[in-house]
Amino acid sequence: MLKPSFYYSVVNPALGSEYEDGSRLVPANSVFRAEPYCVSKSPVPFGTSAPVGPPPPGTHQFSQNNFQNGPSAPGQQPHRFQGPPPPSNTGPSYPPYSHQSQPAYPNTASTSSTAQLANQLNSMQINSYGPGTAPSSCMSSGHPTSFQGPQLPPPTQQQITLPPGSQVPPPANNVNGLCAQPSLPPMARQDGIPGPIPPNPNLQQLSGQPPGPGYHPQQGIVICNSAANYGPQMAGSQLSYPGAFPGGPAQLAGPQQKKLDPDSIPSPIQVIENDKASRGGQIYATNTRGQVPPLVTTDCVIQDQGHASPRYMRCTTYCFPSSSDMAKQARIPLAAVIQPFATVPPNETPLYVVNHGETGPIRCNRCKAYMCPFMQFIEGGRRYQCGFCNCINDVPPFFFQHLDHIGRRVDHYERPELSLGSYEYVATLDYCRNNKPPKPPAYIFMIDVSYRNINSGLVKLICDELKTLLDKLPREEQEESSAIRVGFVTYNKVLHFFNVKSSLAQPQMMVVSDVGEVFVPLLDGFLVNFQESRSVVINLLDQIPEMFADTNESETVFAPVIQAGMEALKTLFQPQVNSYEALARDCVANGCCVNLFLFPNQYVDIASMGLVTMYTGGTLYKYNNFQLDADSTQFLSDLRKDIEKKTGFDAIMRVRTSTGFRATDFFGAIYMNNTTDVEMAAVDCDKAVTVEFKHDDKLNEDSGALIQCAVLYTSISGQRRLRIHNIGLNCSSQLADVYKTCETDALINFFAKSAFKAVLSQPLKTVREILVNQTAHMLACYRKNCASPSAVSQLILPDAMKVLPVYMNCLLKSCVLVGRPEIPTDERAYHRQLVMSMGVADTQLFFYPQLLPIHSLDLKSDAVPAAVRCSEERLSEGGAFLLANGLSMFLWLGVSTPPELIQGLFNVPSFAHISTEATSLPDLDNPFSKKLRSILEHIQSQKPYTMKLIIVKQREQPEMLFRQFLVEDKSIYGGSSYVDFLCCVHKEICQLLS
Ligand SMILES: [Zn+2]
Repeated sequence: MLKPSFYYSVVNPALGSEYEDGSRLVPANSVFRAEPYCVSKSPVPFGTSAPVGPPPPGTHQFSQNNFQNGPSAPGQQPHRFQGPPPPSNTGPSYPPYSHQSQPAYPNTASTSSTAQLANQLNSMQINSYGPGTAPSSCMSSGHPTSFQGPQLPPPTQQQITLPPGSQVPPPANNVNGLCAQPSLPPMARQDGIPGPIPPNPNLQQLSGQPPGPGYHPQQGIVICNSAANYGPQMAGSQLSYPGAFPGGPAQLAGPQQKKLDPDSIPSPIQVIENDKASRGGQIYATNTRGQVPPLVTTDCVIQDQGHASPRYMRCTTYCFPSSSDMAKQARIPLAAVIQPFATVPPNETPLYVVNHGETGPIRCNRCKAYMCPFMQFIEGGRRYQCGFCNCINDVPPFFFQHLDHIGRRVDHYERPELSLGSYEYVATLDYCRNNKPPKPPAYIFMIDVSYRNINSGLVKLICDELKTLLDKLPREEQEESSAIRVGFVTYNKVLHFFNVKSSLAQPQMMVVSDVGEVFVPLLDGFLVNFQESRSVVINLLDQIPEMFADTNESETVFAPVIQAGMEALKTLFQPQVNSYEALARDCVANGCCVNLFLFPNQYVDIASMGLVTMYTGGTLYKYNNFQLDADSTQFLSDLRKDIEKKTGFDAIMRVRTSTGFRATDFFGAIYMNNTTDVEMAAVDCDKAVTVEFKHDDKLNEDSGALIQCAVLYTSISGQRRLRIHNIGLNCSSQLADVYKTCETDALINFFAKSAFKAVLSQPLKTVREILVNQTAHMLACYRKNCASPSAVSQLILPDAMKVLPVYMNCLLKSCVLVGRPEIPTDERAYHRQLVMSMGVADTQLFFYPQLLPIHSLDLKSDAVPAAVRCSEERLSEGGAFLLANGLSMFLWLGVSTPPELIQGLFNVPSFAHISTEATSLPDLDNPFSKKLRSILEHIQSQKPYTMKLIIVKQREQPEMLFRQFLVEDKSIYGGSSYVDFLCCVHKEICQLLS
């Protein structure tokens, strides 16, 4: 039914009180523009109650007073900031990692110098796949595979010889007897997963597309989607590549036909495991410009020593080509994926907050970049040269400090803004809207109380949960309770606002049925502090399910419930605007972020509705065919996580660069009113913005390519702050340097977002062709300019990109880029929206799921077992496998799974007894069950969305669903197998080089 339920969290809503001008806000650039903000003489609201996070563990002595060093406190001697030390004393100065509690870190970490560590890491980086290291999976013999041997120095690369013409037949049948029927059996659709058409029209709604065979049109409502969203080629486009992609066996006839052994082509698992082996558990210090960080899949401890942690910022390459000609030649996207509020693990230091009092942040006069390690102090410390625009600036008197013998300020390590890649500044009133301090953020919960939700128990579920959840609203670490105010609205055909003022004995309801008056009745007592109004709020939450229990009859008799939902939506949204996009714009301008929890039974037009969450930095959650018993756990877990998330509100992000290049394009859950200011009504720890850079001049190899990302935002407690992330990259006129420092995971994040953005304006076929083309181009350029001469039949992959083809193929096969009528439009729009705001770790897992063999768990070890490649041939009848991609999770059980294992996990005697209805594992007291549940928990803990566990038995119907995640195989929607795609890319490369 078309009856979305909303949970709507509103932050700093312009309720007439927030800003004088009410509805419309000041132009964005007046909040964060390149005009002098500098020194305001107005009273400082923040100066006294310093906003410092908890002091870091160990000997860090960063108390809040340390940065009260503005002009108001002249002569005050700041405590010493135990920041990044000189390279000789890394260990002792970084106590957050206790060596006792972190036995995994090599002991050498405490004694080795930073320089040694850096060298070590650098050499690993270069050599990890090169000669002398563990043999690559591709080196297996017996196949026409050759590699660059030890005689060739780096850049290391991978060569795969393909038969002439590279017409390699696809594996005859990927199904391998597991589920070999060519026609798709009917099956239940699961949330978030594109599945084949179910025969039950209640399960799925196709829109604007011809129904498939056996499909019965939904009685009543068929809503046509604006197909324009995905371009005219959407329905039924074939996966076709430019040129003659091996189309079928007919082209492949001939004696020279050879089949590539999957073990001879680059394995993502091998790459992940190699990186874990060489860099896992170590300390990664960000002390070197252009250093390539460990992969997102590798656990390590990150130490900020002058460049932002890769948790905050990752780049597609850590060495930019020095000229735009070179960049055009290589066609490697130059991009950074910025996750400004990324969660850092407890053993890493949280960001320090610098407070210069009423003076505010120190910025370059010309380009407005903030003080950072890239500023060079000169003239005895009286002036500094900006690393971004080279402007010479005077050092403000209060900030003056002498230089040491190497020209560095003697307080270098005492000040985060001089020595750290990331830190925060307390902003002055100049950085606040209308020069007024912001009010604490507010969350408004809007609950759909129409018949179906009352009847299904959903409303009671939400209300009950909120009673405990409201105690967990995010707060500053040093504060006892959250400053976030809360408000409640319910709606069906009309809206009900509640006054929950603490002085009331009972909540008061105000019904708004006049569409034009929606935002007017925001009565006194609507937004409250939960702690103060606790009893009234609890009272309200107890009453809501009862309050609407008797409205059922009229709802069902007079209009479909769907209309009530839609009316509520209109009531909510129409008064201000005509379209979701315009509404979203208004929301952003008012610092209002919308998070939606949808429980659709059919098509609801996610593409349009999602714009509101998308543009406001919100999150969309969707539970298809929600059932209380099966789906409550997932929904409640999402709701909890969402409400507890650390979030920055009313944010504007600006990315500055050193001369010669600049940020040209931005992708994410963002809104942009001009070409430079990235607006986000809210930005939480999971949201990432991908920024593309282009040359506008030659880059200087000596000074490198510097990037500064500054996010102006309102903290949970209502303090205006700036969060600054800096990173320095190298530049080179040698293409090999660029290829050597590429990061495939970041490249895929960029390609996914740019392609998912492009599908709104270009045909799918074109978008896919561009991706294939660019892949081939990048690899061809490498071969032509960096690789040693080799036979045409060899496919040569640069080491840092050797899994680019397999990941690219996964992206091409994603439901967003494969326009098939079987895939519901809403599903594609939903996936598209989620990916647009993902960080690198999330896209990596989403496109290449983790497949863990769990039948061979090492019960003695705490480690998660090594994954296997996502291909059916890695499964075995006697095995059990766990698959997760961040949205979906499956437990696949082979028909011959050992009975002991089945007993241990499910407490039933045999395979036949296992129920696939369960969405979690029973809580059993045996080592195997405990181990597996702890693995599930571990995987889940790192992901923003809660994954519902789906149990799949080999050769039973839901297996079809599971098999779509075996991304190295040919997909049922026509996506090619990894082997086929590699051949296709190779062919393209050959054409480009001929
Ligand atoms: Zn500057």
